[in-house]
Amino acid sequence: MNQEYTSHPVVGIDLGTTNSAIAYIRGGKPELIEAANGESLLPSVVLIDPKGAVIVGQNAKDALVAMPDRSIAAIKRKMGSDEEIVLADQAFSPEEISAFILKELKQRADELYGEGEKEAVITVPAYFTDEQRRATKRAGEMAGFIVERIINEPTAAALAFGLDHLQKDGHFLVYDLGGGTFDVSIVEMFSGVLEVKASSGDHMLGGEDFDWLLVDWFAEKILAEHDIDPRLDIRGKALLKEEAERVKIALSSEESVSVSLPLVTLQENRPVGLAVEVTRSQFVALIEGLIAQTMERTSQVIKDAELSVKDIDEVLLVGGSTRIPLVRDSISAKLGLSPRSDVHPDEAVALGAAVQAGLKSGLLSESGLIATDVAPFSMGIAVLAEKPGGRIKPGGFSPIISKNTTIPVTRTEKFYTSAMGQTAVSIEVYQGEHEWVKHNHRLGEFLLEGIPENWKGQEAIEVTFRYNLNGILEVSARSVSSGEEMSITLQDALIRNNRREFEESVQRLQKLWENAPHNLEEDESLEDISVDDPEDWDLLPDFPADLDDPDEDWDIPEDDEAPTVLHEDGQQLIEQARKTLADLDSEQQIPLVAAIQELEQALKEENVDQLKDVMARVTDLLIDAEY
Ligand code: AMP
Repeated sequence: MNQEYTSHPVVGIDLGTTNSAIAYIRGGKPELIEAANGESLLPSVVLIDPKGAVIVGQNAKDALVAMPDRSIAAIKRKMGSDEEIVLADQAFSPEEISAFILKELKQRADELYGEGEKEAVITVPAYFTDEQRRATKRAGEMAGFIVERIINEPTAAALAFGLDHLQKDGHFLVYDLGGGTFDVSIVEMFSGVLEVKASSGDHMLGGEDFDWLLVDWFAEKILAEHDIDPRLDIRGKALLKEEAERVKIALSSEESVSVSLPLVTLQENRPVGLAVEVTRSQFVALIEGLIAQTMERTSQVIKDAELSVKDIDEVLLVGGSTRIPLVRDSISAKLGLSPRSDVHPDEAVALGAAVQAGLKSGLLSESGLIATDVAPFSMGIAVLAEKPGGRIKPGGFSPIISKNTTIPVTRTEKFYTSAMGQTAVSIEVYQGEHEWVKHNHRLGEFLLEGIPENWKGQEAIEVTFRYNLNGILEVSARSVSSGEEMSITLQDALIRNNRREFEESVQRLQKLWENAPHNLEEDESLEDISVDDPEDWDLLPDFPADLDDPDEDWDIPEDDEAPTVLHEDGQQLIEQARKTLADLDSEQQIPLVAAIQELEQALKEENVDQLKDVMARVTDLLIDAEY
């Protein structure tokens, strides 16, 4: 139990694509909070296990291949979208999945500080959009945190470094390449004040993309040899992805890695595998285009900060993917500098978030460290604009806050009515750098009414943008002559619409969460379930029939049951058997493959007796299977 806090404890959280971590301030220094099993990094993977419990972390990661329809990784890439994630037939939003990860981290804080309210500083890529930041904030709230601040990941990394090097004035370049996102920022440090000068990046570029490039490479090999695409098989695809990450990581330290997978998918019920050698130069050829893109962004951000390469004093490499030798070599060659070796690529962001938390709680106020940040995009509204040739067209972009403006910032601009007698105006909010809004990112829209009737261009509307320290935007509009103000800002409108949904989510997540054995040192929930234990049979995923009574044979439909029921059960059994095949050794695979073939034949011929007989045999094989 740590006593070093004043009111609520404030923790720092790195909610990463691949791994997440939570940190706090101890003895004036940031430190990661470990789980009961001593692990400090938490794989950002969520599983709904066959008992319906939510499992987060390594156990969930281990289940990615075996239970692809019950588990999800890399949810950060979907944050801010309204994509539905279906796990074990239940639909979740990306922020609900993230809330599970945050709940698991909160548990660590609860163990350290005891129950009670906790404030959190959560990091996001600098290049996250407004919706993505809001979704992250809501996920934190769903998990039960008071979200004190959302800060940018490169700023956090600079804070962690800055606290250790308070006397080190100069310009740092923070190059952050993680599992799913890339960020690059220029930070100036002067007498303990850290000022982000410019930020750029791509929230869809990271180690995951390198993995998928390797998956495609593997799949092409299988396609060429066997004329079957293993990516169409959900299990095969998950298996190749897992292998791709292993190969990629090994290639950071070895020149060549061999792949030997006896079963990736099935072709006419025969196992199709992959045996191949991957060299570092083959891998480099796959990813060099993406690394070149990061280098272009790096040049751009130096330019945006109005600096040149020789002005950069230190390079901080953050994110697991910066361990790839090509990344280190490319950055050293570009900047003529060796990256710092005292920045931990996996920990720096969480530690920096804890430094921000310490500045907020007062634990680090003596340090004299202060951080300012910038807006990573321009933000503005849609207006009528002049096209070349003088024609007026809707859809022009008028920025109100420019990219790289220091935040927090409030800016107001005046606009005028564009038609005679116009009494209402629609304020459409965008972020981006293009002069036409259709190329930018739309954030929302609202209507300001109550403008007095007047000649075209005679009524002024003041539009105010407030961009706060969380990187979250509020927009309001006011008619100057009537004083009529849009009472709902963009932010309020979104929050109000979602309040009920939010509460429902919190309750739903809590219910699922309570099913899980989160306080156990070892998560036994998965190991608990055994195909040998009849009591567990109904917990096994997707078994097609009733296995309740261990003394009875498989519940085969009676003769008078409709053949369609039998047919469906047979199909389901084939599906289940195929899924199980991947987990078996070849000795067990061979009889099962043969039985599946027989079952398919029986289904085709609609031979009820044969069908029952083979279904019973397949079922026996499944029950006896050891994996
Ligand atoms: P992060 O989001 O910072 O946790 O980074 C995770 C990403 O780094 C994942 O895509 C990992 O596969 C990747 N990664 C971790 N270690 C290595 C390594 N030694 N070489 C290459 N990539 C790595």
